[in-house]
Formats: sequence, structure tokens, C-alpha cells
Amino acid sequence: MKKSLLIISSALLLYACGAGKQLAAIEKSPVLTSIDLVNVVEDRVQVIVDPGAFASSTVIFRIPKTVPGTYSSDNYGQYLQDFEALDYKGNPLQFVKLDENSWSISNGTQLDKVRYWVNDTYDTENEVVDAVFSPAGTNIEKDSNFMLNLHGFVGYFDGFKEVPYAIHIKKPADLIATTTLSDQIDRKPDPLWDAFLANRYFEVIDNPIMYAKPNTESFEINGITVTLSLFSPNNVYKASDLKNRMLKMMEAQKKFLGDVDSTKEYNILLYLSDVNKPDAHGFGALEHHTSTVVVLPEAMDIGRLEQAMVDVVSHEFFHIVTPLSVHSKEIQYFDFNDPKMSQHLWMYEGTTEYFANLFQVQQGLISEEDFYERMLGKITNSKFYDDSMSFTEMSKNILEQPYEPNYANVYEKGALINMCLDIILREKSNGEKSMLWLMKELSKKYGSDVPFEDEVLFGEIVQMTYPEVDTFFKEHVIGDTPIDYDVYFSKVGLATKDVEESTGYFFDGQVPYMDVDVQNDSVVFIRENIELNSFFDDLKLQGGDIFKVINGQEINLESLRPIIGESFSWTPETVVSMTVERDGELVSVEGKVGQPVKKVKKIVPLENVDQIIIDLRKAWLKD
Ligand SMILES: [Zn+2]
Repeated sequence: MKKSLLIISSALLLYACGAGKQLAAIEKSPVLTSIDLVNVVEDRVQVIVDPGAFASSTVIFRIPKTVPGTYSSDNYGQYLQDFEALDYKGNPLQFVKLDENSWSISNGTQLDKVRYWVNDTYDTENEVVDAVFSPAGTNIEKDSNFMLNLHGFVGYFDGFKEVPYAIHIKKPADLIATTTLSDQIDRKPDPLWDAFLANRYFEVIDNPIMYAKPNTESFEINGITVTLSLFSPNNVYKASDLKNRMLKMMEAQKKFLGDVDSTKEYNILLYLSDVNKPDAHGFGALEHHTSTVVVLPEAMDIGRLEQAMVDVVSHEFFHIVTPLSVHSKEIQYFDFNDPKMSQHLWMYEGTTEYFANLFQVQQGLISEEDFYERMLGKITNSKFYDDSMSFTEMSKNILEQPYEPNYANVYEKGALINMCLDIILREKSNGEKSMLWLMKELSKKYGSDVPFEDEVLFGEIVQMTYPEVDTFFKEHVIGDTPIDYDVYFSKVGLATKDVEESTGYFFDGQVPYMDVDVQNDSVVFIRENIELNSFFDDLKLQGGDIFKVINGQEINLESLRPIIGESFSWTPETVVSMTVERDGELVSVEGKVGQPVKKVKKIVPLENVDQIIIDLRKAWLKD
């Protein structure tokens, strides 16, 4: 982390030593970038980056390899084509491509500008192995939609990340920009152009722009103006369809957060993709300080789309707490081409995801049962990852094997780590303190411009809280001991229990208890490695058993259908006879079908617990 700082400052020093005058000149005049969205050629747009004068003989131009929030190496340079470096007379200068994202230009003092074509990521996602996550990706759809995640379009010169960038965009007349980049209406080179200004390169990538036909709604929440801009390729949805739900949700978020300092403006750029075409399919969102890019399938029905937007946008909006206002130096001085990772993903993603669930129960958007269900789902999902992997170790090495495939556990176990810490804080403070309290304290202490030292954060949190928090960090966040969640549930009078729930004979809701082997005469068999219902259990049938005869009827895929139909009118007294094939042998069973139930895990309140524990649970969920 310190190293990247040193690289920046020594590079600046070099330029300063060479010729102080030019540096001063460059620092004042912004790097001028122009993007032409009108003359789209073969699904590509042309970009020109004009940095002003250079004093050194070699100049290195780079496009990010990775950007904050993605935790993956995406090499945006691979989408650049026909790179040219031009001198003041328009003649090409020699350059060498250093790697996928970097170009070294000789005769830097002669360099006027670089020019290149950019291809987009959305329509090639299907063709590449490690596709760029769509909310960080780019779209070029002539006269219709441009998703300008600017790190895919605008590069920087080594040593010149801290200078302003003027971004001029030539655009089709009927498309409008949605962005939180500051507008420079008086700097427009032409009425058909847009002009924006970023104070440093970080702001270029922190403020994506979406161009689309107007489909926008704005609303006010307690001093924040929220703008939702939506692109729906087949005109299925309007921004107004989602406005009320978003308004209600973000109002609840604002209430939950209370007096946290936040932005005055927040933009939601929603791109709905067409699943029937080569289009974006990395569904989710990427956070920025004042906006978020969301990508979801247009084919979702309104109910699912609204719920997805609530879950996704609330998560992204809570990123204004962390990492946007509480983060380490690794993030503050992000090295786009040689990133150093922080060890605190448990917080950046875990706390955020936890809050995105907690606020919903605290503000009455979901019930306590729904909240328990979500936490239980996270416990189940977390077991699909390495539960004995140190979270800090994983975080620091998230771009490498074997850590990278465990990344998504930050949304599962990462959230659960925060739930446990939240319960510890409530318990030790008689219900008063919480993770939200802790994050508010940390954001007061640091805030968006002051990073913390990666290694000292745990110590600071422990100093602000309790020794039990230290033990928890050492065992379950830094250490690799899996968490026994029931220990923490019991502190608030809860426990995970097996309970019986009614189900169907052959189907559990929409999910069948059987499967078809198409390779083998399409025989129908009982699914393996799943928990069977009481109907199959009581008849002593097992996963893998192949249906041969039911009630005297020989069974194949066709003849099973009417029997499933009949089963809806069975009573518990109905008697069924079945013959199945198990390991090559025929097994016959007969018995009453009973009332089918399944065993499910649930988080349930314990009986006969002290009032003090019930009060603690209230403080936790309804503060
Ligand atoms: Zn996130």
C-alpha cells in the first residue's frame, strides 16, 4: 500500500525535476478527453486523450486492469484497438505495448495526443471465459444505448492520475446522459456535445454515464435527490414502474442510517438486458460514491424486478458507509494496474450486505421470520465455500487462487460475521451499541478522504468495543475456525431447529422429488442427495430408486403424470403400492400415503427465556 504511494510520488518528482514549468501547466489544464458516440464504426467508438505537454522522453499510457469494487482482474485494455500516439503535426509516434493495458510512447516531448477505438464488453460476454462483470462493463449500441463505465474508455498517463479530466462527448440528439459527473454546460464545444469535468482520474471511474432515450424519474429523500434512469431494450419497463418502491426503500434506508453524512445526489443507472440476444448477463450492481450501475434481465416480472432492485440497490447505497467513507489506504490510493488488496472485505462487502438485510427488518419492510430465513439461507450458502478459510487471508489475496473462487462468500459468511459482531455488541452494551453504531463512529473518525491503515483497524475496533470482539476477530475473521451460529443466536433467544412443514407427495412446491434419466430409456427415479419427504421415508424408499410399477400401472414418464395428478386428491388413508428397482433388484412396498411433511431448518425463538434476552432481540431487530 505504501509502495503504490511511493510510485506515484516518485513519478511526480521525476517530472518536477525535469521541468517544473510544464508540470505546473499540465496540472492546471485538464487532460482533455473526447468520445464520439455518433460515428460508431463496427460497434466501436473513437476516443482521443489529449494531455497537454510532456517533459519526459518516455510516456506511459494505461487503461485500468482492475477497478475498485470488482475484486477481479479484467484488463480493460483488451477492448482497445488501433492505438495511435500522434505528435503536434498529426504524425504517428513510435510506441511499444508493455502489457495488455499499457503503452509506452517514445519521444514523449513530441506527444500531442493518443487516439484509439474502444469495443464494448456486453455483446462479447458469452464468448470470453472471465467476462467483465456487467455492472463494470461497457455497452455500445448505436443510437440506442451507451453504458460508459469510463474506465473502459478513458485511460491515464503515468504520474497524471491526480489532474483534472475534461470529458467531451459527441452524442446522438435524442439520447440523454445520466451521470453524477459535474456538467460543464459553458464548455460544450458544440450544442450536440456534452461536457463534463472530473477533478482527478478516480472521479472519472467513480462516475459512470449512461446514454439512453429519456426514461428517468427523480425523487427527494431527506435532502438527497435520487435519479433512476432505466434502459429497457424492448420498452417493457418505465422508470415510473419502479419509482414508488425505490422511494419507499430508500426512505427506510435513510431512516435506518440516521445522521450519517451522505451525498446530496444519487443516481441509479439501470440497464435491463435482453436475454435472447448476446447481451449483458452479469446481473447485480457496482457501487460508486454517488451512483450505482445495475444490470438485471428485462424478462423478470415486475414483482421479481422490484425485489431484486430493493436487494441490489439497498446494498449499493449502503456502500456509502463502507468502503466509500470507511476504507484503508489500499482503496484511497487505488492502483488501477497493480492493485494491492485490503484484508477487510468482511467489512466492505460483509457489513454492507448485512445492513442491506437488517434495515429491511428494522424498518418493517420484511418480517422477523423473513429476516431469519435470509440469515439461514446465508448459513446454508456459506457452506458451499471454504468455511475454514481465514477471511482476512482471502481478502488480501482475492485476485489469486485458491481465494478467488471463494469471493462470493463475502455476501454470505461476510454478512454473518457482521450479524455475530452485532449481537456481541448488543449483548455487551445492554442493547445500546451495534454494528451501525460502530460504523458511524468509524466514519466520523475517518470519512471519505481519510483512509485507515489496513493492519490497525482490528485493534482500533477492539479499543472502541470489548475483548469479546477481539476474540471473535482472532478466531473467526483472522483465524479459520468456522462459526457456530447457534452460540450467537442463543444470546438473543433464538436457535436453529429442525421443524416439519407440509409438502406434496411427488413435488415440494415447484420442485419434484424425482428426476428423469434421458440417457437410459427416460426412466424416472427418486432424486439422490436430497432430504426426502415423509411419504418416501415412511415407505422406506430411497434416493436413486427407479419407479417400475405404481398401483399396478407400469411406470414411464408418460404414465407417471396422471398418477401425480391423482395424488392431489389422496387422503392420508389412501393406500399405495409401488415396485422400484434398487441396485438391479426389484423392491415392492405398500402402505398408507399419510400427510406428507418435510424437515426444514428454521431459526425460531426459544421458549422460557429471560426478559433481558427478549429485550436484546428487540434492540437488535427493531432499534
Ligand atoms: Zn458490494
